Amino acid sequence: MDDMLFNTEEHRIFRESFRKFVAREITPHVPEWEANRAVPRSIWLKMGEEGYLCPWLPEEYGGLGLGFEYSVIINEELLRGNAFGVEVPLHSDVATPYIYSFASTEMKKRWLPGCTTGEVITSIGLTEPNTGSDLAAIRTRAVKDGDSYVINGQKTFITNGYFADVIVLAVKTDPDAGHRGISLILVDKDAPGFHRGRKLDKMGYHMQDTAELFFEDCRVPAGNLLGEEGQGFTYMMEKLQQERLEVSIKCQVLAEEALKEALNYVKVREAFGKPIGNFQYTAFRLADMATEVELGRTFLDSLIRDHIAGKNIVQRVSMAKYWLGEMVNRIAYQAVQMHGGYGYMEEYRVCKLYRDVRCLSIFAGTSEIMKLIISRRLGLNP
Ligand SMILES: Cc1cc2nc3c(=O)[nH]c(=O)nc-3n(C[C@H](O)[C@H](O)[C@H](O)COP(=O)(O)OP(=O)(O)OC[C@H]3O[C@@H](n4cnc5c(N)ncnc54)[C@H](O)[C@@H]3O)c2cc1C
Repeated sequence: MDDMLFNTEEHRIFRESFRKFVAREITPHVPEWEANRAVPRSIWLKMGEEGYLCPWLPEEYGGLGLGFEYSVIINEELLRGNAFGVEVPLHSDVATPYIYSFASTEMKKRWLPGCTTGEVITSIGLTEPNTGSDLAAIRTRAVKDGDSYVINGQKTFITNGYFADVIVLAVKTDPDAGHRGISLILVDKDAPGFHRGRKLDKMGYHMQDTAELFFEDCRVPAGNLLGEEGQGFTYMMEKLQQERLEVSIKCQVLAEEALKEALNYVKVREAFGKPIGNFQYTAFRLADMATEVELGRTFLDSLIRDHIAGKNIVQRVSMAKYWLGEMVNRIAYQAVQMHGGYGYMEEYRVCKLYRDVRCLSIFAGTSEIMKLIISRRLGLNP
């Protein structure tokens, strides 16, 4: 723990108590939650009681007014505790910040206190069945009608979608204006005309209640609009930096975990009369893996520092999301390989890790879209 990025006494105490919380309240239940394809509301409420939800929110909304580094600690310790799928980071650090930054005072008072207690779970709905990478092409339409917006359309692959109490929804308010026609609107789970589809059946990340959302003449008050009409794309671009950093942290920590599992295993598993880690081929692959993981950590920590310092890291965080998303998949693949047949068995953690990490190079912008952003910022026009 000494080499962790945040190393003050306060950080250490916070990390230690959260780690114990995860070990006691979360890790033992992971197999059951994976089988149920759901995390119970009770764990959200417990996390809320302990101050682990949106700890960055000001006290007036029930938060602790803490810095982003505490969100990093929570994200990291959840992953170390095998809890990839308990999407508190998406709630605390991706969806809720939209409400805090762009909602009216009335909406903030209505939703934010619940975001810290666990009574309100948030999600963010951008992707639609016909488009994900090309956000300007979304079709979900919101039409102003008196004091309401009437929404029609569909979203898919929405994290926390099945249990969310409020959704930050990307809609088209002006279908002829391309990305300038996109707005963000809060949709309450009880809004008339809103319903959810099934929990989606995924390759991994099983605890997560990823879902489809449907809007059929769904009526929400006009005051649910976030910020100004037509500014949704700009708001998303502003918030994507933290979202991609949050996902980069997931990539890095899961790579570290997969490496740890591989190292532990090759030291005890024997073949041809010696531990398999003593075969030069295995040892050199592990040396490669450890080097990649170390490079990833150094890069990631520099981004976390710069993000906290308020710097624009869009270019570098796109590089991190791309490279770390691919790197963790390479590491998980090798970790399974080194476990031989046991790596394919559920009782070994690498099995779940391998399945889970596959989505990391896809969501929050695919590796290809990250390369598009990087190359455009290099002055190219792919
Ligand atoms: C587990 C999971 C959770 C998710 N959670 C959420 C969520 O909470 N909210 C939400 O809104 N969305 C969510 N998503 C959706 C995710 O963000 C999208 O799947 C992703 O952005 C890709 O969009 P798509 O699936 O439509 O693929 P497409 O956009 O159809 O892309 C298909 C392929 O084409 C490639 N491609 C597309 N355009 C280009 C190009 N210009 N150049 C080169 N290659 C290109 C892509 O990289 C990809 O490989 C989630 C997805 C998953 C799997």
